[in-house]
Amino acid sequence: MKKLFLSMAAVALAFTACDNDKNEITQQQEVDMTDFYVFTDFNENEIAKSVNSKKSTKSCYTMNVLNKQLMDNPGLEKKMYDVEYHTRQFINAKGKPTGGGKPGGNGGGETDVDVLPIEDGLGTVNIPVYFHIVLPNANDVSNSQIQSQLNVLISDFNNPNTNQLPSGATNFVNDATNSNINFTLAGTARYNDNTASWGTNNAVKAAYPPITPQTHLNIWICNIGGGILGYAQFPGGNLSTDGVVLLHSSLPGGSAAPYNLGRTATHEVGHYLNLRHIWGDGRCKQDDFVVDTPSSDGANYGCPSFPTVNCSTTDMTMNYMDYTDDACMYMFTDGQRNRMRALFTSGGARATMAGN
Ligand SMILES: [Zn+2]
Repeated sequence: MKKLFLSMAAVALAFTACDNDKNEITQQQEVDMTDFYVFTDFNENEIAKSVNSKKSTKSCYTMNVLNKQLMDNPGLEKKMYDVEYHTRQFINAKGKPTGGGKPGGNGGGETDVDVLPIEDGLGTVNIPVYFHIVLPNANDVSNSQIQSQLNVLISDFNNPNTNQLPSGATNFVNDATNSNINFTLAGTARYNDNTASWGTNNAVKAAYPPITPQTHLNIWICNIGGGILGYAQFPGGNLSTDGVVLLHSSLPGGSAAPYNLGRTATHEVGHYLNLRHIWGDGRCKQDDFVVDTPSSDGANYGCPSFPTVNCSTTDMTMNYMDYTDDACMYMFTDGQRNRMRALFTSGGARATMAGN
């Protein structure tokens, strides 16, 4: 969503240095990784509060967990770089921007940048899901609640919901997408466990390990503590901790209003499928690596009025990767769709899940 003119200039200089090797030039043009980052070195909630006077009442801990994993596992940064490289290579080769900017990686930046959904030949991608319910009384989460959560995931990843957009949000109508990713119930395991809160150090996954994470999404439902709604692991991480952890009361019908419509799961599965927060976990110049999502300088909370303007563009506060209330988030973009689906293509980090 941003232009990095300086880095592009640096790449252009590199071309002149090796202009006798056209293949190398083409490769460099296709995959520009200069804006890639993994560490976020500040508390984005505090930034949002201090800069925008936005109330920080919602907390996803995915980026904090990632920072710790990067410190504990020196090889993780390279793995995530490789996942990103494959993603950009796929998008740049197949994507067709229609409003300016490059189809993948950095570039673009204006709210009217539009990309098309890539025809990847995969059709509907089905993700089978194992739920692990870990609570003092694991029956507190019913089978019908699990089915409702699954239905929310299916709906959110398959409906563009353009009818919910405010009338002035014409720039976003073409961005809202059907990701064509389906979810099916593989199984539900219940564990009565008196642990009061599990924190964010993956302890719940160590106690109750994932089931075939190569081919299945594992979701742990428990009490996390600290007011944290959930956290996910990005593709490229250790399989033993692969999956999503949700606060039990964030499920549809739970007590965590206004975060109890099941969209914590949608947001965290977005991370699991390689989406960053829409504001890029930094200020205006830090990117979420998606060209059709506008820049912002922090998270939005509550149910913002339209338009909410930051970084000289209108924020897409209704995107699932913002921090708004469950009822006020209802879209992924084509660019996010392409980024998620790149994982399932040949050589992608979750290709085995789609039988590739
Ligand atoms: Zn998040």
